Amino acid sequence: MSERMILLVEDNASNRKLFTDILEYQGYTVVQACDVGEALRCLAVVRPDLVLTDIQVPGGGGELLLARVRDDPSLAATPVIAVTAYAMPGDRERLLAIGFDGYIGKPIQVLQFIQDIQALLSAREGAATAAGNRAAAEDPA
Ligand code: MN
Repeated sequence: MSERMILLVEDNASNRKLFTDILEYQGYTVVQACDVGEALRCLAVVRPDLVLTDIQVPGGGGELLLARVRDDPSLAATPVIAVTAYAMPGDRERLLAIGFDGYIGKPIQVLQFIQDIQALLSAREGAATAAGNRAAAEDPA
């Protein structure tokens, strides 16, 4: 199995280190960005399996990053998870409604954090495998 890559977009240095340590310990390759501009520059050269973005990041916030990912046909299918502190009632529903694939509140619960990411990646890979199998079955050659 190839190593899976996660683009982590987080302006808070201690959160960035914490999330990176957890993810790297789980075997993921982590690419870090501190703001939306840096994230977009990363996405111009790497294709992560997942984007994990803080909502309150400089350069327009996680919502703008999500919009840019969805607007780019080569990136649009990439799962994007929102990570946010100061959650207000309804935030989770609002973020999922605008197209985030998942929502994680800060401070994170480490095991839940790992499980949420694994579940999302497994669901994506399962769907891709099923589509590949269908394509193979339909191919007379
Ligand atoms: Mn932030």
